[in-house]
Amino acid sequence: MLETIRQLETISRQLEPDHSQRKQWLDLTLANAAAFLDELPTAPAYYPNPDLARSLNESPIGETGIKMETALTLFENSVVNQGLNPASARYLAYIPGGGLFPSALADFLAAISNRYAGMFFACPGAVRMENMVLRWMADVVGYPQEAAGYLASGGSIANLTAVIAARDAFEVHAGQVPRAVIYMTHQAHHCLHKAFWMAGVGQAQVRQIATDAAFRLEPGALEAAIRADQQAGLRPWLIIASAGTTNSGAVDPLAVIAEIAQKYKLWYHVDGAYGALFALCPEGQAVLNGLEQSDSVVMDPHKTLFLPYGTGALLVKDRQRLYNSHRVDADYLKKFVEADDEVSPAEVSPELTKHFRGLRLWLPLQLFGVAPFRAALSEKIYLARYFYERLRQLPGFEVGPYPDLSVVTYRFIPSRGDADAFNERLLQAVQMDGRVFISGTRLNGKMTLRLAVLSFRTHLEDIDLALQILKEKAAELGAV
Ligand SMILES: *Cc1c(COP(=O)(O)O)cnc(C)c1O
Repeated sequence: MLETIRQLETISRQLEPDHSQRKQWLDLTLANAAAFLDELPTAPAYYPNPDLARSLNESPIGETGIKMETALTLFENSVVNQGLNPASARYLAYIPGGGLFPSALADFLAAISNRYAGMFFACPGAVRMENMVLRWMADVVGYPQEAAGYLASGGSIANLTAVIAARDAFEVHAGQVPRAVIYMTHQAHHCLHKAFWMAGVGQAQVRQIATDAAFRLEPGALEAAIRADQQAGLRPWLIIASAGTTNSGAVDPLAVIAEIAQKYKLWYHVDGAYGALFALCPEGQAVLNGLEQSDSVVMDPHKTLFLPYGTGALLVKDRQRLYNSHRVDADYLKKFVEADDEVSPAEVSPELTKHFRGLRLWLPLQLFGVAPFRAALSEKIYLARYFYERLRQLPGFEVGPYPDLSVVTYRFIPSRGDADAFNERLLQAVQMDGRVFISGTRLNGKMTLRLAVLSFRTHLEDIDLALQILKEKAAELGAV
């Protein structure tokens, strides 16, 4: 047996590279990352004509390893150089991504040290750090000291957790579900419907409340719907406002909705995955007034704090609500240090073992300080306004509502022919060009183009380029 163990050990020890091997891999990886960042300013925002990464399948996982050089080439050809490039300054579609450099370093350190960030006793520093950045976000949105929350993988899971907390707070269980009523607009994010099913409240009534011309919830229609439901013997339960819809960036009238939620004693959730963190800058704060009166709020640092993908956040004003839904005891998780009043992520979320997400937020906030984040968010709002003002002066273009935050909707009205078909062609022409990437949607049944400004890398010159390309492509398509 000893012989077998020794033989196995020689092979298994390959999993721990020695100093020189580590250095070689590190150097190659760093060189790859450096080249990516150096080329980013001129790299396309979209790589057309990909082989859909099919060539990856020609290098299956084998019994013995390949060289780092080979692996990096596969990564570059199949992953980096195909499809969308959300790291680009000229990626202005959907909700743009980020990818702050210190977050990458933080992820590296988190993976190397592999500290357990689920429970306070296991790594007090990691949990304290996560709670510190959550506390910081709570201050940004105006939540009190009793609030608690957790860093999720993204807005979808954070919204799910909010729905679960609201469900348990109002005991919307079993036979109660079909009588419970949820209120939101048709512009609410689709992940909420997914959350209802996953939370076991998929059979609750969902009222789609009418919106005004700027796609914001109509408070009058909300109150009327709640009253009608009460009279019909149903049980109004949950209002979900959007603090920045994905479609048009519209912010529902948060303060007025808060009054209605209080008057009828409903749970008030704000989906601010895209917009809530704009509360960091004065221009955002002005639009987000009333956010602090909600019972729960979701925000996505991987959108509005420019982090790499994989970081959302939920805050619940009454921390007990989160505990009630998520706290369980297990004999194998006995604490051996006092919790020092710190919330453990595992006690307020569906996850137990998880990525130490706090470090990727803490490190950039510490290294840069808050000022550049605040300035960047103000800048994005002004860039959206600038685009709006410039575009409306271009002949043929029609703009949607004035932007609440950093999304602008618009379309081209051709002198003849079908406008929807024309805007489809215009969108495709801009996307295939590759220099900037925008996206489309339907608003009031009409094919509409969107420009979403949220990358920390996007500045005035990128918006000017987008304007120039839109003008160019509209002319090429024979419109002007
Ligand atoms: C992006 C977004 C979501 C979903 O968040 P993910 O992080 O993509 O899971 C939910 N709501 C709104 C308003 C969003 O913009």
